[in-house]
This record gives sequence, C-alpha cells and structure tokens, in this order.
Amino acid sequence: NQGIAQVDPEIAAVLDGELARQRDTLEMIASENFVPRAVLEAQGSVLTNKYAEGYPGKRYYGGCEQVDIAETLAIQRVKALYGAEHANVQPHSGATANAAVLHALISKGDKILGLELAHGGHLTHGMKINFSGRLYEVAAYGVDPETHLVDMDKVRETALAERPDVIIGGWSAYPRHLDFAAFRSIADEVGAKLWVDMAHFAGLVAADLHPNPVQHADVVSSTVHKTIGGPRSGFILSREEYAKKIDSAVFPGQQGGPLMHVVAAKAVAFKIAASEEFAERQHRVLRGAKIIADRLTAADVTEAGVSVLTGGTDVHLVLVDLRHSELDGQQAEDLLHAVGITVNRNAVPFDPRPPRVTSGLRIGTPALAARGFGDEEFTEVADIIATALKGGAATDVESLKARVDKLTGDFPLYPGLQQY
Ligand code: PLP
Repeated sequence: NQGIAQVDPEIAAVLDGELARQRDTLEMIASENFVPRAVLEAQGSVLTNKYAEGYPGKRYYGGCEQVDIAETLAIQRVKALYGAEHANVQPHSGATANAAVLHALISKGDKILGLELAHGGHLTHGMKINFSGRLYEVAAYGVDPETHLVDMDKVRETALAERPDVIIGGWSAYPRHLDFAAFRSIADEVGAKLWVDMAHFAGLVAADLHPNPVQHADVVSSTVHKTIGGPRSGFILSREEYAKKIDSAVFPGQQGGPLMHVVAAKAVAFKIAASEEFAERQHRVLRGAKIIADRLTAADVTEAGVSVLTGGTDVHLVLVDLRHSELDGQQAEDLLHAVGITVNRNAVPFDPRPPRVTSGLRIGTPALAARGFGDEEFTEVADIIATALKGGAATDVESLKARVDKLTGDFPLYPGLQQY
C-alpha cells in the first residue's frame, strides 16, 4: 500500500519534474491543455482496474454497474453538447477514433480525400505510412499558394476528378474555419460520405464559437485533450444510421477493453464543457490567439521577415511563417524554449525546408487560457514572442525569461497541488 515515492522514486521524480516544468514555463503547443483537477482525479482512479468490453448494459464482463453509469453519462453529455444523434466515447485516442471511422464507413482499397499533410492535414487523413495511407487509396486537396486558404472550388474540382468514397474536413494546423456546408454539398455531388475531424477545434464548437460540423457531416471524430481540455483520448459522433457500424468498428473492430478511468474523465470534461465558465475560457482562447496574430503582423516584426499565415486567425492557434526570417522553425522553437515558452515548429505550406527543420511555428492559446490568462497577459506574451522572433540570435534571452517568470508566478498552475 505504498505510494509512488516509496515504490518508484525515479518515476516519482519524473512526475515532480514535469509538474514543475508545466508550472514554470508558458505552454503554447496548440494541441495541449491543462485538465481540471476533477479530470485528473477521475483519470487517476480505481476505474483503471475494471474490464468492460462491450457497451453499457451489454458487457462481456460482470461488475460493470458503476462503469456503466460513467459511460452512459459521458455519452449523454457529449451528444447534448454537440447535438449529435449517436456517440461512442471509447476510442483511446484521436488516431484510434479515426481508424474506427474509416473502418466503419469504407472498405480496404476505397478512396479518401483529405487536406494534404504538408498543408495542415493529419497523419490519419492519408499519410503514406499511416494505416490510412496503407489501407486506403489517398487523394488530397491543398491550400491556395497565395492566400493559404482552402479554396472550396478547388476541393470540388479535386473531388469530381478523384471520386472519393469519403471526404475529410479537418486539420491539425490551419487558422481559419472550414465551410462544412460546402463540403456537404461536394460530398453529395460525388456520392461520398463526409467525415469531419474536429480534434483541434472541438472546444470552440462546444462554446458556440466555431461552426458545428455535426449538422453537416455523416460522422465527426475528435480528441478530448486539445481545446476541450479533457483526458488524452477520442470520441466519435454520428448520425443514427451509422451508430451500429461505428460501435462495432471501435469494439471489437479496433479495441478491446475501454479505459474506463478515461471514459469517466471524459464524462467530467463534457460536463465542464457545457458550463458558462468553459465558454468564457474559450472566449479568452480566441482573443489570445488574435492578440498574438496582431502583434506578429505589426511592422517591427514583419520587417524581420516574420509573418502570420492567412494574416490572422479565427481559432486557437497562429501559424507563423519564417520563410523570410533569419530563423528557421527549429531555431525559433529553441529560442522560445530558452525564454521559457513551449511551442512546436511546424511546416508551412510549400515549405522549402525539410520536415525536421521547417519554416514555421504553431502557437496556441488553450493551455494559457486554462491557466487564467486574459487580454493583458496575452498582450505581454505576444510581445515576448515578437521580441524574440525579431531579435533572432541577438535576443536578450535573460530579460525575456524574467518576463515569463513574472507571468508564471502570477498565475500558479494547480495551486495547492503537492505532487502528481
Ligand atoms: N486528428 C487531428 C486533426 C489531430 O490534430 C490529432 C492530433 O494531433 C489527431 C487526430 C490524433 O490524436 P491522438 O494524438 O490522440 O491520436
């Protein structure tokens, strides 16, 4: 009955070290967030001990009465949140949710059409060595070379030429809204099913700050850990006609026993996502991203060859274009890391540099909004980033680090928590 500090001091040190890292730096990876303590508690609970293959009321194991309640709550809550007819909350991750979607909708060798990986698409939308690229034929649409926007006329042209069985709307790095109604009409015109992967923007949709794809798509998949700020995992929403196929594609098609501690944590996250407080936080997420985009498009920054793709953002992230800067993506990521800001380098469309280096950065605001940041703090963060990116190798790292320390000190993460 010993705790982790006694049983495994090495891993206990990792947990302590990671808590300190999260507290002492500014987390701006667009796909990350800080879960509320209630989610941490559910996820670190005794539900991890339970096998529950099957679905509520139809399990292949005894003793499922408590976990049935948790899964039923998660299903009801997420359906209400997005206005969906059917929900499956068992996918272990966004990628397994996506594997189940394709498994349910089409057969091996059928064709999918999604956003080019190098233009902001996801691995599971048809990357060559991912299951999606190995099992299915892949076609892709890209963004316009000038505007960096998805042009729906071009998507239609590509769909008419390629005749895909599934069209995918969704992205990992794109700063604007997609036109779901236009995707629907193209899918209908070519006889394809429409799948929207809202992994990145699901929290914004829940707060009514982003168009909801559920009315338009046959199936919608998502992660829970990005803008929603729940446990690391996935879920699938669908029209009733696909309910059976989706459920059997998840279990037994893709997975065995669901992670019931995570399912319970999803239920908690979906409850929180329906609250006023959550909507207010998503407002701060969006305002923060706009403040950063505005600062990075000011003259003193653009003079240093730094710009923002599409000139701004409608979502929780900003894509910085470094093709004309003295810094490449790797150098910019390293420089911000030295200052105490964590971001990830990201290829820009038509990037001349290799994927390990890149000419871009993806900067997101969800985690800092969860920490309590509002306009004032995001204005300070934006200026720290701008100063570093225009300063390049000559940046006074120490003075910027001091400004980061002030912000992390003023907004303590998980106050009162001793160890996790
Ligand atoms: N779909 C999109 C659009 C994503 O951006 C991601 C994660 O980056 C995923 C799916 C996969 O999620 P996971 O990392 O949980 O497998």
